[in-house]
Amino acid sequence: MRRLIRLLYPPKCPFCERLLQKEETLICAECRRSLPYAGAAGKRSGRFFSLCVSPLLYRDKARAALLRFKFGSRSGSAAAFADLMAERVERDLAGKYDLITWVPVSFLRLRRRGYSQSRILAEETARLLGAETAALLRKRRYRPPQSRLTGAAARAANVSGAFAAIHPERFLGKRVLLIDDVVTTGATLSECARVLLTEGASGVVCATLCCRPHRP
Ligand SMILES: [Zn+2]
Repeated sequence: MRRLIRLLYPPKCPFCERLLQKEETLICAECRRSLPYAGAAGKRSGRFFSLCVSPLLYRDKARAALLRFKFGSRSGSAAAFADLMAERVERDLAGKYDLITWVPVSFLRLRRRGYSQSRILAEETARLLGAETAALLRKRRYRPPQSRLTGAAARAANVSGAFAAIHPERFLGKRVLLIDDVVTTGATLSECARVLLTEGASGVVCATLCCRPHRP
């Protein structure tokens, strides 16, 4: 069955869109070697979270693949992205969280797109890590996407009060790993972390697939 599926839908590398060779899994050898790995730059702290880690920089093939995933319904890329995220979480955040959640999208965006990329990333990553996931946050109302705003102040103001906790009893006294696709100023992650802490989480760490430098 697996062989038949592979024959009918040959798996592609999500970063360069070339067909994968038999010995390659999820990501082609060339991309594994040449992706814009974030290294030390893929680690930052925020006002309400102690650490955020990201395997990739938001540029070149990583940026293109993430945009295809976000706006082109390439939900199949999630397994490859989660593979990179799980590896980075294992390296930097092992033993620092009790359960995993994600940054929610508004109902409107969810309806338009049909899926939440952050939720898919969180669930795939959690599966690889053998961790528990739960929906802990909801978006209160539609806000302009952060990607349309420049400047840390504008981004922070835009997300202030945008999220609310659901089922706070699920994370009371627990350490939460919060997942999103990209981090820029960290305003969204920080606001989500603030809500989780206010509602009883004992700590928040974050992981995103990509990170990008921001101008204050
Ligand atoms: Zn590739």
